[in-house]
Amino acid sequence: MAKEFSITPVSVPRVETKYRRIQTPLPAPETVPVLESLHRSELRAMQGQPPVLWDRAEGFQVYDPAGNRWIDWSSGVLITNAGHSHPDVVEAILNQTQKRMIASYMFPNAARAAFAERFSSLLPEGHRKVFLLSTGSEAVECAIKLCRTHGIKTGGRAKNVIVSYEKAFHGRTLGAQQAGGIPALKEWIVNLDPGFAQVPFPDGFRTTDTSFDFFLKCLDEQGIGAPNVAGVILETYQGGSAAFAPKEYMQSLREWCTAHKILLVCDEVQAGFGRTGTMWGFEHYGIVPDLTSWGKGISSSLPLAAVAGREDVMDLHPPGSMSSTHSGNPVCCAAALASLEAILKENLVENSRRMGNLLHERLNRMASKHPQIGCVAGKGLVAGVSCVKPGKEPDGELAWDVVERCYHKGLLMFSPVGFGGGTVKICPPLMITEEALEESLAVFEEAFAEVAAEHEARQETAAR
Ligand code: PMP
Repeated sequence: MAKEFSITPVSVPRVETKYRRIQTPLPAPETVPVLESLHRSELRAMQGQPPVLWDRAEGFQVYDPAGNRWIDWSSGVLITNAGHSHPDVVEAILNQTQKRMIASYMFPNAARAAFAERFSSLLPEGHRKVFLLSTGSEAVECAIKLCRTHGIKTGGRAKNVIVSYEKAFHGRTLGAQQAGGIPALKEWIVNLDPGFAQVPFPDGFRTTDTSFDFFLKCLDEQGIGAPNVAGVILETYQGGSAAFAPKEYMQSLREWCTAHKILLVCDEVQAGFGRTGTMWGFEHYGIVPDLTSWGKGISSSLPLAAVAGREDVMDLHPPGSMSSTHSGNPVCCAAALASLEAILKENLVENSRRMGNLLHERLNRMASKHPQIGCVAGKGLVAGVSCVKPGKEPDGELAWDVVERCYHKGLLMFSPVGFGGGTVKICPPLMITEEALEESLAVFEEAFAEVAAEHEARQETAAR
């Protein structure tokens, strides 16, 4: 069950370090009227957020208006890869707005051209057509549409199934949600499209058979054969756990898709733009997908998303037949170009890899000490710490309490809700320094040890 954060201030120990400051009860009493206003005007579904009123965010730090300061391990949920309010991104946004050129739907603008061309030039050969959109869900919807269009064209209307993975998340709109693999999130759809099917994700922890034969067997059991499949879509790593598939599995999947004219789609909404220690997440697999969906870290700031891919697939629909009102918004594109150049200029992909090695080494060391950590997944500057009860059952409460304790100690992160729970997700901006990472790891280790001991003591009391 999803827990809610209280907006009633509680006293917490003071913190004062180089990067963190907690000097008021939390949430800061002066921010409560704003939080209450949100509770009054917005729907309850938004109340899963930790009640930190962001007043300023720079680099890897977040400030509230009461002078409290956190190290951010969320990147605003994987958006600010180049860092919060990167000066070049801020400047690009200001310049673009000062030009009095902030929207141009139905007509071209130069900022859109500049970003599309630069992004395209960095993508692998043969995967260089791009379509700019606004949200990750929208990009996934578009990829699904292209898969179906391609399937019908190459194999007739029976070639329409979109295969995806259990526990996957691709967004909350009708198609993206059906491609997702979390049944509870799909109950509202009622009439599920039979042209979507899921198979277990080969994470090696919850699905121990990571062979490609198992993929084929699972499809076969659902009465699906290659001639029915239009596309296979997967998150490059699963957002709910940060798990990657084995490289050999992905290479077999790539071959199978090619052999049967099935489009392979990597949803890079979380994984792209340096997050995993490579520029694009799919590089870890040594494959090139037919289509990719992008979002979040694409701009380190304003809403922008994209689909990229093979020219013959991207060009299936004629001029005017695919559009979106905010497609290629000039301010968003200017921000995205500045962010991309900053990632390249500042070697943030390499920093993500190096800091990621440090992060994963420390987390694995913690896992060997705490039986409550079932596994640590991820690469580069994304990690998922799976909290478990004895066995492999996810311990959502432990994960939640660790996140809350860290928030009280000046470190922000989140636990993805609705994914079976139990994962603490760690994804700082890619420009985090070693010193700040060390400081935040010490906080995390301390918070985890405290909360795990409290849970253990409670369980012992309950067992008596
Ligand atoms: N795909 C993935 C892998 C995601 O993580 C998300 C968002 N968490 C989406 C798609 C949907 O993106 P958006 O929220 O921008 O619609």
